[in-house]
Amino acid sequence: MKIHEYQAKQLFRRYNVPVPEGSVVFSVEEAKRTASALGGFPVVVKAQIHAGGRGKGGGVKLAASINEVETLANEILGMTLVTHQTGPEGRLVKKLLVEAGQLIERELYLSLLVDRNTASIVIMASPDGGMDIEQVAHKTPDRIIKVYIDPLMGIQGYQLRQVGFALGIPGAAMKQFSTLLSNLYQLFMENDCSMVEINPLILTVDDKVLALDAKVDFDANALYRHQELMELRDLDEEDPMEVEASRFNLNYINLDGNVGNIVNGAGLAMATMDIIKNAGATPANFMDVGGGASSEQVENALRIILADSKVKAVLINIFGGILRCDIFAKGIVDAARKTNIRVPIVVRMEGTNVEEGKKILSQAGLNLINAENLSDAAQKVAAAVI
Ligand code: ADP
Ligand code: MG
Repeated sequence: MKIHEYQAKQLFRRYNVPVPEGSVVFSVEEAKRTASALGGFPVVVKAQIHAGGRGKGGGVKLAASINEVETLANEILGMTLVTHQTGPEGRLVKKLLVEAGQLIERELYLSLLVDRNTASIVIMASPDGGMDIEQVAHKTPDRIIKVYIDPLMGIQGYQLRQVGFALGIPGAAMKQFSTLLSNLYQLFMENDCSMVEINPLILTVDDKVLALDAKVDFDANALYRHQELMELRDLDEEDPMEVEASRFNLNYINLDGNVGNIVNGAGLAMATMDIIKNAGATPANFMDVGGGASSEQVENALRIILADSKVKAVLINIFGGILRCDIFAKGIVDAARKTNIRVPIVVRMEGTNVEEGKKILSQAGLNLINAENLSDAAQKVAAAVI
């Protein structure tokens, strides 16, 4: 689960990770009030959306006076901000972070991630931080160092210094940097984060280190342990169809293609996406109704997929195990009666009570295309969209 920069910075403050003074605002008037309370200029006006690259997209700007704060807040609030991470449709900006502008000596990069290969926390750091970090990763990857932390041992003093040296932190700021990184590691572990990224971490002209940007992602599977973090969720920033699917405990991810698919089990869902691709079409979503889905869940799954205008055909691929084929078929029939089925639907069913399931479907008089097996299903659904 992602959160906004201003929320991440509040979390940083709790762990004594230094950040500039500032707060979130929802209107131009509030922006002006907050800016004058900061007591100096420049002030930075920053769009709050769940995507990076805001600076390059025109969502982060410096103001030298209250009048400029007003102009910039007017311009950025309500704009549709397009960055390389939002896709061409962009994101509507509904809130701003107004914070004290800093005198930057150097911009550095620092992040912590879960590294599944080594079962450790990896710290990535680069002296070449800032808005061109993607270029650094692409062109001079040796300028990014990685330090692996064994979660059972915790972060060690020599590792803090190793990262500090790699970043070229001057002697005068080394102690402050070590504390910052050690606190950041503690924040990461205690909140079950999957990622914490500071880009840029800055060195100020008077040798202080400070997080100018803050990105935090929590492991959704561990959120049940952190009720207080759940309150930071911003549904406005999530795909509305994914939010709707999560209400019914459906594992749904919206994709770019035009073949909607409903499958029970994540492995089968991955395989189904592969066979759709293999047959020359592209999946519009990943939808796992789960091994023990109820007919109500099946009904919601179909309704959500058919509400997606890019879906031109649907492939339903069910292996009846815990979810019996007859239960599943009832869900489809109920859904079909309530929904306007505007596209061809191919059904492949196998497993427990398959004959009964097929009977229910054929007696319902729905316009479904029956598939004999997986490859037949893929071919039929691809033929329907090509
Ligand atoms: P994004 O990563 O989405 O582009 P950042 O928060 O990293 O947004 O801001 C982009 C750039 O704006 C930073 O690299 C930094 O140069 C500048 N910047 C951001 N916040 C401040 C600040 N408080 N003071 C001075 N410059 C800032
Ligand atoms: Mg940034």
